[in-house]
Amino acid sequence: MTKKSIQTQLIRSDYRAPAGFDAYPTAIHHASTVLFKDVASMRSGDWKNKNAYTYGLHGTPTTFTLEARLAEIEGGNHCLLAPSGLAAIAMINLALLKSGDDVLLPENVYNPNRELARWLASDFGVTARFYDPMVGAGILELIQPNTRLIWTEAPGSVSMEVPDMPAICAAAHARGVLVALDNTWAAGLALRGFDVGADIVMQALTKYQSGGSDVLMGAVITRDRALNDRIAASHMRLGMGVGADDAYLVLRGLETMKLRFDAHDAGARKVAAWLKQRPEITRVLHPAFEDCPGHAAWKRDFTGAGGLFSVLFDPTYTEEQTDRFVDALTLFGIGYSWGGTHSLALPYRIQGMRSGWQDPGILVRFNIGLEGTEDLIADIEQALARL
Ligand SMILES: *Cc1c(COP(=O)(O)O)cnc(C)c1O
Repeated sequence: MTKKSIQTQLIRSDYRAPAGFDAYPTAIHHASTVLFKDVASMRSGDWKNKNAYTYGLHGTPTTFTLEARLAEIEGGNHCLLAPSGLAAIAMINLALLKSGDDVLLPENVYNPNRELARWLASDFGVTARFYDPMVGAGILELIQPNTRLIWTEAPGSVSMEVPDMPAICAAAHARGVLVALDNTWAAGLALRGFDVGADIVMQALTKYQSGGSDVLMGAVITRDRALNDRIAASHMRLGMGVGADDAYLVLRGLETMKLRFDAHDAGARKVAAWLKQRPEITRVLHPAFEDCPGHAAWKRDFTGAGGLFSVLFDPTYTEEQTDRFVDALTLFGIGYSWGGTHSLALPYRIQGMRSGWQDPGILVRFNIGLEGTEDLIADIEQALARL
């Protein structure tokens, strides 16, 4: 063969690393273009086939491995990755709802999901109705002939009501309606979404699966192949893809997820128990505590709780005072999201977010990270003194 020009040498090399390399980490495959061995295999390639490769957007060994592992952990058969938790929610809604359809969402739903539902209602001919998360079997009365999808969140990630999942799912299935569960709070560990009746489990991998506050990603997990294929069509048409390095970070996070989740859980229960006996706090909205609406459902259906909970301050404290409390915390960052190693605190104007919310006290949400619990409690104590 004639010697190639330096320009071609820079781009093409015949060197192949020796076969036989093995290691525990999943290899990171970067690819937009996927190479076919000949035209015939290009022509016969099908993006739906997860035993083969067609284009970076439709899967690489790295993303297929992450999908398979997430499906296995959640107890499902199929998984699709999206570039954020919210993108995963959008993919589900756009796959299953069309003009003329109706969707039911809990009042305490993740707020961007509410925002998307409102958009579908204002511009795309879908009706979106909101139900009391404690409705249980009463959801049956809300189901209309055109209701296609019921969203659930267990628990709501600000006000923490735990829904009666088996009752909601039984009513939905009696009417042929699909149930999607946002299982981010329990990370697919403390609540088994399919065991309580969900048809579709969505997770924001941004939280515990990544565990490092450094990745945005979402997953949609199903058991039923036909249902997966409907959502996969939405995944393809919307161009949902994730970066190889991000997929690797989540794969790496999964190995320690249970240990981290249990440590967050133990720390959060200690901090919540300490807050519960403080005179400044009227209620602790933590599913493992009796104050929390749906505590009985949590006890029946869940095996743990993780690090996220909220408290309500005594209504004699003004927002100015509780803001001063949050600002005075030194070990808690002020920021959205959770599931990382760093503790966070965030005030919410819950009265404006929820129609019919009774309690006038200011709500502050805590994400308990992996710092020493005694240090976190001491920090909260000094900040309470600044109220
Ligand atoms: C964070 C979160 C999401 C969205 O995840 P992003 O990756 O931030 O888009 C969805 N649902 C719940 C309950 C969440 O906490």
